[in-house]
Amino acid sequence: MLKIGCHLSASLGFLGMAHTAFSIGANTFQFFLRSPKSGKNIDISEEDLELFRDFNLKNNFAPIVAHSPYTINLCSSKPMVRKFSKKMLRDDIKKLDLLPGNFYNLHPGSHTGLGISKGIRFIAESLGEILPEFKNTTLVLETMAGKGTEIGSTFDEIADIIDFSGNPDNIGVCFDTCHMFDAGFDLSKLDEILSEFDKKIGIDRLKIIHLNDSKNPIGSKKDRHEKIGKGYIGIDVFHKILTNKYLRNLPFILETPNDLIGYAEEILILKNLVK
Ligand SMILES: [Zn+2]
Repeated sequence: MLKIGCHLSASLGFLGMAHTAFSIGANTFQFFLRSPKSGKNIDISEEDLELFRDFNLKNNFAPIVAHSPYTINLCSSKPMVRKFSKKMLRDDIKKLDLLPGNFYNLHPGSHTGLGISKGIRFIAESLGEILPEFKNTTLVLETMAGKGTEIGSTFDEIADIIDFSGNPDNIGVCFDTCHMFDAGFDLSKLDEILSEFDKKIGIDRLKIIHLNDSKNPIGSKKDRHEKIGKGYIGIDVFHKILTNKYLRNLPFILETPNDLIGYAEEILILKNLVK
């Protein structure tokens, strides 16, 4: 069965998000554990977690994905930002660790002038320190469009981060289809892309797919998500992605510009596509 969901507001609480996901035909979802822009914490109660666990089990939910706030940047040129980012990351994973078996999605970071190799070292250093402290959560590094000084728009950069962090077991990768297309990956050549990924990183590290079309042509480095089938990537490529033997069992998360009704329609379209 297709594992599919979309981004939801954590202000609903975990049970509320699960109910909402269920009501639109989803069996997973993504959320921010804290405000994406201010970094302020969202309250989580023990009771909510308990009810959520029950609901998930009964309804056979797939793993869920917490998305890091945009304020986390492990490779900023400002030491205070790096320090604060590390603290937020550790606090977030500690929280998610209460729900074993789920994923924490991280934008690798922007080096803001330090250069790519120094940026990679800073990210890897933090992850190498933090990840071994946790057993229940897998952190996934998201592939990026490469706008500004973003790190993570090539498999080489992601492979270096994983290597230099000491290859912890609980690190993986999230493909964002819009970001990859904008970074110059021709997604219609999916087999070639996956074989490069396997060679450089290892296919087992691929854990999550962010399913987004792009408002811009290939290689634009813009990172502007579009509804599935309405952008430059096109529906045929999404069919290929959803049915690929390495990808079809992974959780697919939509981050398309939609309200709940729009997400319900998109999920239905995608389910019909793979019928
Ligand atoms: Zn994404």
